[in-house]
Amino acid sequence: MKKTTGTDRSKTAHWRPATRAVRAGTWRSEHGETSEALFLTSGYTYDDAATVAARFAGEAEGMTYSRLQNPTVAMLEERIAMLEGAQACRAQASGMAAMTTALLCQLETGDHVVAARAAFGSCRWLVDNLLPKWGIQTTVIDGRDNAAWEAAIRKNTKVFFFETPANPTLDIVDLEAVCSLAKAHGITTVVDNAFATASLQRPMEFGADVVAYSATKLMDGQGRVLAGAVCGSDEFINEVLLPFQRNTGPSCAPFNAWVVLKGLETLDLRAHRQSANAMEVGRFVEERVPHILHPGLASHPQHDLAARQMDAFGTIFAFTLDGGREQAYRVLDALELIDLSNNIGDAKSLMCHPASTTHASMSAEARAEMGVHEGLLRINIGLEDPADLIEDLDQAFAKAGL
Ligand SMILES: *Cc1c(COP(=O)(O)O)cnc(C)c1O
Repeated sequence: MKKTTGTDRSKTAHWRPATRAVRAGTWRSEHGETSEALFLTSGYTYDDAATVAARFAGEAEGMTYSRLQNPTVAMLEERIAMLEGAQACRAQASGMAAMTTALLCQLETGDHVVAARAAFGSCRWLVDNLLPKWGIQTTVIDGRDNAAWEAAIRKNTKVFFFETPANPTLDIVDLEAVCSLAKAHGITTVVDNAFATASLQRPMEFGADVVAYSATKLMDGQGRVLAGAVCGSDEFINEVLLPFQRNTGPSCAPFNAWVVLKGLETLDLRAHRQSANAMEVGRFVEERVPHILHPGLASHPQHDLAARQMDAFGTIFAFTLDGGREQAYRVLDALELIDLSNNIGDAKSLMCHPASTTHASMSAEARAEMGVHEGLLRINIGLEDPADLIEDLDQAFAKAGL
């Protein structure tokens, strides 16, 4: 294997994001293939026993087992790290493997975590159920409220955990304010950046310590595989996260890493085109529904903040209907082009009812507090022509009495 210029930070630091997305991290075999090779192997062989011993001792470069290292996975890790502006990255089996690993690798019994209440359902489950069960205290706050972050800090607060924009209500957390507050108190910020990706928002530029991903979403972008990633400093990734990951095994499968690696080549194009489509469709929807949550529209209470920290506003927005679940279901059931699906980040436009799907495992009170009302619908805008999406929504809205 030959590492290309893309793996040499001293030669790639000046590369612009679109170049990094296509080139960063590439290795080539002796065949000189243009497309990154898929190393579908769990193990490795060695020329002699001394080499094996040296590799196991960490004294010689080289791989020993795909739970620990794999060339295809390594290419993905370097590419994501370069896109993020991070020193290091470790790929994970899924977004939830990434979130769980990023939290558990650094927390212990007696620690305290402050988390934003608007979050992906399983992220809330970690905060509400898993961490407390293991003696880690958690406080859930309104992530939009900078004073609430400060008020929740205790002597033993170790981590701030949030996503922005948040799923599914598109709450925005002030990255600069919350990350600098955390820094001042020696607290590690863990940001779930799945909705935006580095193409639209780079939390580390605002002081975030750890950025974690579901790569299943916009990074793959075509709804094919589950994968995740955690980015951070060399010290965090290699000394805190890696010992946990190597021994617990949430590693990314080489095939899934390869699919995401190829997805990253078009990430910048897709993220920007889908964001533009989501603006166009959002403007149409705003005229037809009582309440829309779209960070790109002036009607979003945090529009200015979103504009400060995001390059574009993402592929997802939500809206609430006065007719509750019944009217929301009527819209979903009338769709002809847009698919009824709970996935996001896909090139296909997808719509779902969060209260009965992604956020169904939460209590009704927690849902109400988060703003996940019975009439809320979430839409991921894909790469179709927005005029066709608008026509489909137009006929579905009419059938639902809107
Ligand atoms: C989907 C998602 C996750 C979980 O990712 P998986 O790849 O499905 O495990 C976590 N956070 C956010 C914001 C997500 O959208």
